[in-house]
Amino acid sequence: MTVAPYPLTAIVTTDLAGITRGRFVIADRIEQHMQTGIGWLPANLALTAFGTIAEANPWGSAGDLRLLPDPAARYRTDATGAATPFDMVIGDIVELDGTPWSCCPRTILKAAVAELKAATGLSLRVAFEQEFQVFGADFPAAHPLSVGALRRADPFAPRLAAALDEAGVEPEVLIAEFGADQFELTCAPADPLRAADRAVAIREIVRETARVAGWSASFAPKTAPQAVGNGVHIHFSLLDDAGNPVTYDPAASAGLSARAASFCAGMLRHLPALLLLSAPSIPSYYRLRPHSWSASWTWLADRDREATLRICPVTTAHGRDPAPQYNIEYRAADATANPYLALAAIIRAGLAGLTGALPPPAIIAEHPDTLDETRRAALGLYRLPDSLEAAIAAWMADDVASSWFAPAFVETMLCVRRAEMARLADLADADICHLYRDLY
Ligand code: GLU
Ligand code: MG
Repeated sequence: MTVAPYPLTAIVTTDLAGITRGRFVIADRIEQHMQTGIGWLPANLALTAFGTIAEANPWGSAGDLRLLPDPAARYRTDATGAATPFDMVIGDIVELDGTPWSCCPRTILKAAVAELKAATGLSLRVAFEQEFQVFGADFPAAHPLSVGALRRADPFAPRLAAALDEAGVEPEVLIAEFGADQFELTCAPADPLRAADRAVAIREIVRETARVAGWSASFAPKTAPQAVGNGVHIHFSLLDDAGNPVTYDPAASAGLSARAASFCAGMLRHLPALLLLSAPSIPSYYRLRPHSWSASWTWLADRDREATLRICPVTTAHGRDPAPQYNIEYRAADATANPYLALAAIIRAGLAGLTGALPPPAIIAEHPDTLDETRRAALGLYRLPDSLEAAIAAWMADDVASSWFAPAFVETMLCVRRAEMARLADLADADICHLYRDLY
């Protein structure tokens, strides 16, 4: 008599390389692990995307932790088409006595959310909008955004819709995007922790659904030097203590409320350092170039896709209220970033703007490229770091940003980034894109 396969549940965390890793347990026995989790180790935080552990990390071979599943962050679906269900529960890394580990990315996000709330009474609603490309499908050519571009992949998109919906990520729109074999997925906004969890779940469900079709899905920021970039756009809005939306003020310039403007001002001030968390890899900077609808200046604009911070449109058709729709999009992120850390850094930067009562930043309609240096400086427009090296330098120059995280965390982050620079030192841009296409 043959025994049917035992479905497994992955208990996972996402690391500094933006890779989601974990260990599997028998799904039926997950309850046994809910209180104490599974084994984990500090040096795992120094894992790179290349199957190595970054050298000279602060952890070495010693020490043990637990990876504790969060039952509210279980993403399970039978609809990917795989032989057994996709089943993943996201966890927090804790010490052996159950206390939070100061370097756990998910815990770092929770702490940022709690501090924003404690200091200002505000909380965030967030949604990650993610682009990816499919490889190995041998699709016939199709027009960007066309019906045919999505239908030629059938049943990929309908299967994804079912899998994402069943897993509970609240998928909204599936797009055959502008780039070659590029797609985009949006989901409903949620609190920051859930939004980052969803970003992780969506990536893994997309990858599995593509794999089942015999293809691979890549979220790499640039899969070839001339390719259209794959962005991760982080939409956010502010809620007050009572849960009312407070990002919008009809009397304010472009509708941006005073509190939201201070939050944005903090982000703009710390943007060069923030990039190390939201665009942390070498190819991130192939994407962050002017005129590619990504982000390249410390620029807030009303509905302009070249701006790093874009005030998004609202619709007033059929009497719709703009207030709950109104949100801001941070465009300088990609999938080589850890979504928890990118969001934690955004919140910390925004909070610095609020506590410092920074004045509203200019909302600029002209492309910074078209303004002269003096005018740009007067408007606070600066070119973002254009390489990982420059992003590290910007990080080091920002004492406020360095204080957002535990010293051991910062040390590990810099180790991982330097290991990446050493690994890629002799590679041409095209080879780097190719490598990241397969790694992400
Ligand atoms: N693909 C663009 C990026 O790299 C974004 C295009 C868009 O959706 O506006 O961010
Ligand atoms: Mg898009």
